[in-house]
Amino acid sequence: MAVPYADLHLQYLNIKSEIDTAIAAVIRDSAFIRGPYVDAFERQFAAAVDASHCISCANGTDALYLAMAALEVRPGDEVITTAHSWISTSAMITHAGATAVFCDTDARTFTIDPVAVESAITPRTVGIIPVHLYGQPADMTAIMAIARKRGLWVIEDCAQAHLARYKDRPVGSFGEAATYSFYPGKNLGAMGDAGAIVTNRSDLAERMAMLARHGGVVKHQHRIEGINSRLDGMQAAILSAKLPHLARWTKARQAAAAVYDRGLNQIEDVVVPQVAPDRSHVYHLYTIQHPQRDKLAAHLTANGVQTAINYPVALPFLEAYRRFGHRPGQFPNAHRNQGRILSLPMFAEITLPQQNTVVDLIRAFR
Ligand SMILES: *Cc1c(COP(=O)(O)O)cnc(C)c1O
Repeated sequence: MAVPYADLHLQYLNIKSEIDTAIAAVIRDSAFIRGPYVDAFERQFAAAVDASHCISCANGTDALYLAMAALEVRPGDEVITTAHSWISTSAMITHAGATAVFCDTDARTFTIDPVAVESAITPRTVGIIPVHLYGQPADMTAIMAIARKRGLWVIEDCAQAHLARYKDRPVGSFGEAATYSFYPGKNLGAMGDAGAIVTNRSDLAERMAMLARHGGVVKHQHRIEGINSRLDGMQAAILSAKLPHLARWTKARQAAAAVYDRGLNQIEDVVVPQVAPDRSHVYHLYTIQHPQRDKLAAHLTANGVQTAINYPVALPFLEAYRRFGHRPGQFPNAHRNQGRILSLPMFAEITLPQQNTVVDLIRAFR
């Protein structure tokens, strides 16, 4: 049996009439840019993640840029982030005008190591961007304690962690702001690019909205110089149609993860995802570790199971950061994991026979 890495078409078929109705309404109303569908989604998403404000934008990368621009990051400032993420996190630090300072990850959870954060702080540090990687919250108690003690802001990168919780609080509610991506493959995905920032600070919300909309929220009143980063009406209506299903989809991902855990736990050399106490993991990705990762991936591919590596090169070692001259010894966990991680098929609609196929193939691997 072939097992896809994800199945967006199946998700569409399951809610086809809701999606088709949403798209038709936007076309009927010609509500293509901003308008009622965008306003409605912003209200609904803020409520879903318990935030006072949601500012939609074009994608999760812009969300990071807009959050830092609103916090008035300046040249010479240093922003601390994790060595293990998608490049948007660190690239937007640079584009906002600051310098990215990488920290190693915690050996078990793949999230930023608070001890490493503490030792990376210099007089130039202004903020920290933890990433709730793969859907597991970072250690927010420790990170917020450091931020408070040192007077730093925190932006949570929630692109992979819609509805995840840390000690019974939703991710995104700890820092000054949190950024989301609705890239089609994310746990809540549009049918194109889409993103958002949430915050409980109304001053930041106003500034982010201005920055995303040419520097002003009233037409022709450009109070500052902004960019054009808008969520379009079609994507907003699609996201509003999908949002009521998100809690159920999240439970389905967690149930699928439990099936993998049970099937893979006892297999020699396989390390299943480790969830730290007090954190709910929403399994955007189900990522195992294996000492012969490339051979195992080839074995699965040859037998019709799609996998992915998120990510094959940790951020400090990318060509884009050669100027820093990072060495593996500075980020031992991230460096070790980049050669061991393998993401298995994971989506809300995955079936037990599909998962058994994956587990049996891994068990048969020599
Ligand atoms: C997907 C992702 C982003 C970027 O989101 P886009 O919508 O693709 O721009 C940022 N950070 C992380 C951790 C992501 O996974």
